[in-house]
Amino acid sequence: MSESHAKHGFGTRAIHAGQAPDPSTGAIMTPIFQSATFAQESPGVFKEDYDYSRASNPTRKALEKNLASLEGAAHGLCYASGVSAEAAVLHLLSTGDHVILCDDVYGGTNRLFHRVFNQAGIEVTLVDMTDLDALDNAFGDTTRVVWLETPTNPTLKIIDIRKVAERAHARGAMVCVDNTFCSPYLQSPLALGADIVCHSTTKYMGGHSDVIGGALLTNDPDLYDRLKFIQLSVGAVPGILDCFLLLRSTKTLHLRMQRHSENAMRIATWLESHAKIDRVLYPGLKSHPQHALAREQMPNGFGGMIAVYLKGGLDAAKNMLEKTELFTIAESLGGVESLIEHPGIMTHASVPPEQRQALAITDSLVRLSVGVEDADDLIADLGQALA
Ligand SMILES: *Cc1c(COP(=O)(O)O)cnc(C)c1O
Repeated sequence: MSESHAKHGFGTRAIHAGQAPDPSTGAIMTPIFQSATFAQESPGVFKEDYDYSRASNPTRKALEKNLASLEGAAHGLCYASGVSAEAAVLHLLSTGDHVILCDDVYGGTNRLFHRVFNQAGIEVTLVDMTDLDALDNAFGDTTRVVWLETPTNPTLKIIDIRKVAERAHARGAMVCVDNTFCSPYLQSPLALGADIVCHSTTKYMGGHSDVIGGALLTNDPDLYDRLKFIQLSVGAVPGILDCFLLLRSTKTLHLRMQRHSENAMRIATWLESHAKIDRVLYPGLKSHPQHALAREQMPNGFGGMIAVYLKGGLDAAKNMLEKTELFTIAESLGGVESLIEHPGIMTHASVPPEQRQALAITDSLVRLSVGVEDADDLIADLGQALA
């Protein structure tokens, strides 16, 4: 964990880790070092590792240290987007290598693995990782990476990170967990055995729907060196202003995640008893198939994402989406404002129809990203939309 703040609690690290007052001016907030290059005293003699901003930049470095501290990692790297962070991990692989990917994965991740890296000779197998026997059967001699999200997207299955990591390590594969839905406040994959944590910082880390970004966190110094080399070589680095916005965002991450979780728990409970709802999927509900595992793996709350199956199919779903006023119809998630979407038509449209069918991404499925507004207002909005 980064520097002197390792001993502090999450909220203290969120506000202070990686961010001492600026030594040249005393500025309390990390300045936006909007500079592509840095003066050298003599050829090859420069301050710290600052010779060119693709390689390193002080604002980005403060963010990398802050995110590493929050994930309990020794090292952090930031990227221009979540998918470019994912691509950096895939660049570690060679033609013929095999990846096992959880079946119910973010649509853009599915596309990157199957339609970009598959062409470069990376083999991909989709597995329902709530079934550990199915995972065991998917390993081959060339399996290098097991990649998962938990809770999954959009059906919020919970995957046992510790058990997957044990199995993967026994077969010589590394484990990468996309922790976007939880943020480090709700779930700590590295402590459960993951080798790399990946984030779309666009979502809860950013929290205000105004930045696209990604990050990788790890405790493994060798993996870090290789990923840092790929970051330098491929250059999918974030803009400096975006790094500043993300530093501002992470200062309230713990507060936001608490409220997202409280609001979502109230709304999920309310929806479960509504006559027009067939089924609610939320890891905090006792009715969730992996509720016991969720309680262990997500000790600080169950997050802001809810999936609901409406009675009545596509017409009922469209009707609800068109009638909500506080819940805006939009892709993405994790912002302070509440959003509603139809995975079959929107976020998961790029998933082939037969795969959507197998994953129960049906016409009547609606996904909510519950924001941090007043829960009573959100419930009233859903109530009038369903009436
Ligand atoms: C959004 C998202 C991504 C991709 O991130 P971008 O910042 O949009 O590139 C990856 N994983 C999950 C779980 C996401 O929600």
